Amino acid sequence: MNVVVVGAGIVGAAIARKLSMYDLNLIILEKQPEAGWGITKANSGIVHAGYDDPPGTLRASLCSRGNMMYEEMCKQLKVDFKRIGSLVVAFTGDEVKVLHELMRRGELNNVKGLKLLDREEVLSLEPRLNGNVIAALYAETAGITEPWMVAIACVENAVQNGAKFLPNTKVIGFEIVKERIRYVLTDSDKIPADVVINATGMESDLLAKLAGVYHPPLHPRRGQYILIDKNAGNIVNSVIFPTPTEDSKGILVLPTVDGGTLIGPNAEDLSDRERESVSTTLEGLREVLEKASHLVPHLPVNRVIKTFAGLRPETPSKDFYITAETSPWGFVNVGGMRSPGLTAAPAIAEYVVEYLIPEKLHISLTRKKDFNPERRKIPHPADSTPEKWHEMIARDKRWGRIVCACNEVTEMEIREAIRRGARTLDAIKFRTRAMFGKCQGGFCTHRIMKILAEETGQALEDVLKAEAGSWILNGKVRP
Ligand SMILES: Cc1cc2nc3c(=O)[nH]c(=O)nc-3n(C[C@H](O)[C@H](O)[C@H](O)COP(=O)(O)OP(=O)(O)OC[C@H]3O[C@@H](n4cnc5c(N)ncnc54)[C@H](O)[C@@H]3O)c2cc1C
Repeated sequence: MNVVVVGAGIVGAAIARKLSMYDLNLIILEKQPEAGWGITKANSGIVHAGYDDPPGTLRASLCSRGNMMYEEMCKQLKVDFKRIGSLVVAFTGDEVKVLHELMRRGELNNVKGLKLLDREEVLSLEPRLNGNVIAALYAETAGITEPWMVAIACVENAVQNGAKFLPNTKVIGFEIVKERIRYVLTDSDKIPADVVINATGMESDLLAKLAGVYHPPLHPRRGQYILIDKNAGNIVNSVIFPTPTEDSKGILVLPTVDGGTLIGPNAEDLSDRERESVSTTLEGLREVLEKASHLVPHLPVNRVIKTFAGLRPETPSKDFYITAETSPWGFVNVGGMRSPGLTAAPAIAEYVVEYLIPEKLHISLTRKKDFNPERRKIPHPADSTPEKWHEMIARDKRWGRIVCACNEVTEMEIREAIRRGARTLDAIKFRTRAMFGKCQGGFCTHRIMKILAEETGQALEDVLKAEAGSWILNGKVRP
């Protein structure tokens, strides 16, 4: 059976990894040069505990299940995941009432480890919080991860288990004969398909339309962020949420897995024509800083290294939209992936592959005997002992040549990322964290470009930052 997953964000990637456990021809199509560059690239990176999703929704059940699955998945894929806990903080009596409601929802959603804390308990966990705090809901199961890396690792693991990954391949239509999909049409080829998984994030309603399938209309809800460098030290130890409203979780302060601090996101509803509008605005960033400073005063704004924005795909019902269609037969929608889509992704994959496909499409899948869930990580010598690092340098000197000084990334790590498929500067950045530190590539980009050109045999002036057309050099400046 031919199964085509369209979209290699966290949702498509997790589904592809799950499908690669079974005997089938699996192809993953992604219009970008790399997995994880859509919504998955720009979000808070929180593996939510699951107390705030309305009980009874798909979001609620898949979030708490996904949270439980994250630790093992990240262990197998060798991706950072830290269960640091979260606090929803309250400053008024009305907000405390909301904490009790969240606690009740959490219990209905089967979330373990929830606890209401008083002021002293909160401040002992988070001394830099606004001292006017009066209570908080603590969720010990909340965690943080690097979302794009989870997607990249899921795709790598699926490929290791027999799947084919085609980046830079955009799906533009379907060939449907007698109510069955026969081919997926791309901008470069025609691919045979029996089952198609529509995991195209911000575009899943548009893709469904191409197949003549209903999908609720999406509109983007932009969230802007400010990233503070790790050299500002630990500002908070856990994820700090304000008390949420029905509409939004609010603007947060949280650590990133590599030691920085992230503040944001705000929530701006955009029109459905602004699906690529990921620019930041002065107004939006001001709002982020002002609201985050209410939670944690005196944020070190002089250590800001980056601002960015992401888009939530909102449906009118505010829930995930997951269906298996029978007209045309075999079209599976996995859309409306607003928050907590990152958290829920492994549970969504389980739901689609173990329930939806067998139950709704009546397909019985056969497990492979030799599925290997383990992925090998690109070694990062700076994380190992000096003895181990010396051994690596003795094997190859390039393990000792630091290219990105901010994040201590060596030449060999960059070469390994390229050998695993990175073809642009951003692809190297997301796989290795080179150019991700304080200088944001100011001091190392030229060296990385040379390594990329050398490894791939392309001319230096053809090296791209990200997608097609994003050249860095205008031509040769010296003969
Ligand atoms: C501001 C913000 C904060 C969030 N915070 C959290 C959080 O802390 N925790 C959490 O659990 N969730 C969070 N979320 C939600 C989470 O980020 C998303 O649910 C998740 O990333 C969605 O993944 P996806 O795979 O569905 O979409 P995407 O990552 O967008 O993947 C879809 C992929 O499909 C590709 N594609 C689209 N059209 C085509 C086509 N025609 N052909 C081929 N490829 C195509 C795209 O290039 C893209 O790579 C947040 C979201 C936002 C925006």
